[in-house]
Amino acid sequence: MSDILIIGGGVIGVCTAHELAKRGAKVMLIEQGEISSGASYGNGGLIVPSHCVPLAAPGVPLQGLKWMFNPESPFYIKPHFNFEFLEWMLLFAYASRRGPMMRALPVLSELLLSSGRIFDEIAREGGFPFGYEQKGTLAVFLTQRALDKGLEEAHLVGGFGVETRSLNGTELCELEPALRAEVAGGIHYPQDAHIDPAGFVIGLAEKAMELGVKILTHTEVMRFETEGKKINQVQTTRGDFTADQVILCAGAWSPVVLRELEINLPIQAAKGYSITLETPEISPSYPLMFPEARVVVTPFKDRLRLAGTLELAGMDFSIQSRRVDAIRTNSAKYLQGLENAKVTEIWRGLRPCTPDGLPVISRAKQFDNLIVAAGHAMLGMSLGPITGKLTSQLALGENPEMDLAPLRLERF
Ligand SMILES: Cc1cc2nc3c(=O)[nH]c(=O)nc-3n(C[C@H](O)[C@H](O)[C@H](O)COP(=O)(O)OP(=O)(O)OC[C@H]3O[C@@H](n4cnc5c(N)ncnc54)[C@H](O)[C@@H]3O)c2cc1C
Repeated sequence: MSDILIIGGGVIGVCTAHELAKRGAKVMLIEQGEISSGASYGNGGLIVPSHCVPLAAPGVPLQGLKWMFNPESPFYIKPHFNFEFLEWMLLFAYASRRGPMMRALPVLSELLLSSGRIFDEIAREGGFPFGYEQKGTLAVFLTQRALDKGLEEAHLVGGFGVETRSLNGTELCELEPALRAEVAGGIHYPQDAHIDPAGFVIGLAEKAMELGVKILTHTEVMRFETEGKKINQVQTTRGDFTADQVILCAGAWSPVVLRELEINLPIQAAKGYSITLETPEISPSYPLMFPEARVVVTPFKDRLRLAGTLELAGMDFSIQSRRVDAIRTNSAKYLQGLENAKVTEIWRGLRPCTPDGLPVISRAKQFDNLIVAAGHAMLGMSLGPITGKLTSQLALGENPEMDLAPLRLERF
């Protein structure tokens, strides 16, 4: 029997397992595939305190509806009418008003800035390479109108501890010569960083194993045996397990697992794609964000990754080639040198999105020994380390270092 059983081997489950093992807990982690085979595999790897404006923001639902019939749009809501989706859309529309957004913003910025500091500590401790580099990100705009909107957002997040520096087109191209001269300008966010996401999760899982964490891969959690307010047993495709506490970190699959416990968690999967290229001859040295195209570009040691699009289409793993192609075509409007770069991998992943853009880090009131850590949407890599810390503080009965009330499960 373990003290703690974690379901899900993505960034959230692995950060939680590592943190708990550091504090001496006996931990088992169960993963249905390989470690980091879900959304934590091929994402942009950006660690972005600058992204503290939640997805649920004024104008976003309307933009999604406008783009509904465009097969190349970077934000797409697939019409599908089940109860969970309609409930989620209503909650999303409600959370997208200015009031709720302004309440979510300081919560996200505190989480993101704390997590960024932990990444820095992990990198300084060394032990495994994960491509950590903190030179900031550059948000780049093609039109003056979009730049003005970007500067407004920079001003807003600047009020919550995010450092920003605006750059005109010439300054931007001097800093990042791979950009096309036509860009209107941009913003440098120096506290941002970037990592190799799968390298980080797999490396940290190995460190956790050295600290005693038992990891079972290719093992799927199917059901639970419960008694009153207690989960007695976790039943998997490879046997049944018991533990004092169960922590659910199953990303976009979390609502499916919780359904077995008759708990409703409004998380919708938001599919995104990445295209990984061999490093082109002209390649950026800064991670870049193109808000008009909703694409991010991350330079790794020997690769360049373009990532983007957000498709609310349920648990759908199909690859929509036109949207994938649009990521590359749109990136080429900002960047030189992409035309002949060889593709090494096309990937899709499902972001676990709550309707209000905040994750759930919470005990479940239905069971005394269940904790949920899920719903990190577009920020799961950035928020992994702080989530691991807060979740382990909850599990060990300590006072969490941040107020977790805005992240509780019962808020929906
Ligand atoms: C295109 C794209 C780009 C992105 N870019 C960034 C970025 O630049 N920066 C950033 O911060 N975030 C980014 N994200 C978001 C980030 O990838 C996610 O928020 C994060 O990976 C979620 O981590 P997770 O551990 O919650 O979920 P996952 O990584 O999906 O892990 C959940 C795990 O649970 C397992 N599981 C599910 N059900 C079961 C079961 N029944 N039994 C056992 N195991 C189970 C799954 O197999 C999976 O491995 C991006 C996402 C996408 C799609």
